[in-house]
Amino acid sequence: MPIYSYYCKTCKHHLSLLKPYDEKDNVKCPKCDEKLKIKLSAPSIGDSCGSKKSGFS
Ligand SMILES: [Zn+2]
Repeated sequence: MPIYSYYCKTCKHHLSLLKPYDEKDNVKCPKCDEKLKIKLSAPSIGDSCGSKKSGFS
């Protein structure tokens, strides 16, 4: 299972979780019970700390 990074828009909590692909969008914040947003990360692509100019939407 891949590790996904999440953040909560409500309380700014961040966490990483090991999730099956079909459950990755179905995660709630352990602090405030809001649905978490998934952060797209690019493991093993070299420019992780780079720019945010190429916007995923
Ligand atoms: Zn939260």
